[in-house]
Amino acid sequence: MYYVGIDLGGTAIKVGLVDENGNIIEKISADTGAKRENEEIFKDMAKLSRDVCRKAGVSYDEIESIGLATPGLVQGDVIRFANNLGFFDLDAGKMLGEMTGKKVYVGNDANLAALGEALCGGGKGASSVAMLTLGTGLGMGIIIDGAVYVGANGGAGEFGHTIVERNGHPCSCGNKGCLECYTSATALVRMTLDAMKEHKESEMWKMCGGNLTKVSGQTAWRARDTGDKTAEEVVDMYTDYVSIAIANAVNTLQPEVVLIGGGVSNEGENLFSILRKKAGSMMYANKTSVKQAEIKRATLGNKAGMVGAAMFAKTGGKTA
Ligand SMILES: [Zn+2]
Repeated sequence: MYYVGIDLGGTAIKVGLVDENGNIIEKISADTGAKRENEEIFKDMAKLSRDVCRKAGVSYDEIESIGLATPGLVQGDVIRFANNLGFFDLDAGKMLGEMTGKKVYVGNDANLAALGEALCGGGKGASSVAMLTLGTGLGMGIIIDGAVYVGANGGAGEFGHTIVERNGHPCSCGNKGCLECYTSATALVRMTLDAMKEHKESEMWKMCGGNLTKVSGQTAWRARDTGDKTAEEVVDMYTDYVSIAIANAVNTLQPEVVLIGGGVSNEGENLFSILRKKAGSMMYANKTSVKQAEIKRATLGNKAGMVGAAMFAKTGGKTA
């Protein structure tokens, strides 16, 4: 049997035909058109689910069930609220189930991406995984014994909105000083720009050709490679915060593995060697022989949502 894993985003609908082991056999995608009626988006997801089977030459009858990864707060198979898609109290499982003729399981996208990584990616084989995604924000997913921890109301894992600085940087959630304001790729860019404005001599100015709109999450890393002192300070501050995030997660949850994903994780060992050292030194009882959480890189990239959604369907929407 096969599963269809749908990763519904604000800009694209990605649909994968996934086998029982989490391998993507075939995939297709289409624009979300987020401003459309809810039902139109769902009709497209139903059509794409059949299309991906046709493209792979697999009979639609061989689809056991469908998993849907969506932004927003999910309770059961109901999307309570997804601001970027205009979903409000939408019974997504029922609607897509009727359109596809399959049982549909619905979960939050960050949680299901973490599930995909935990079962089939960087966390494969670990009994418990906390995944942090360093992207536009700071995403988190907590996986315990192959199931997503969703909390009493479905909203668990908003680790990015734990507050680490009193009266700190304003966050999109309305609070100030949230962890994601210091650990996201967005934050890294802000730190880079702030440092450049203070240090006109920095190599980073040459790297962006004097054009601040060209500054990215890679600018400080590349300048640091050349020995630029300002860039080194930016990387030092940013990795301090990411390490605090990791250590806070570890000291709260003690997962077997912490996975780091998102664009920033593409720095590879450049980044991970620093995180292991800094976060390792902040883990409780790190000077004892007690085994500490392993910090590893996520491996599925932008396929994690599709794989996780399919695996969520395979486990019958099991949550912890
Ligand atoms: Zn926040």
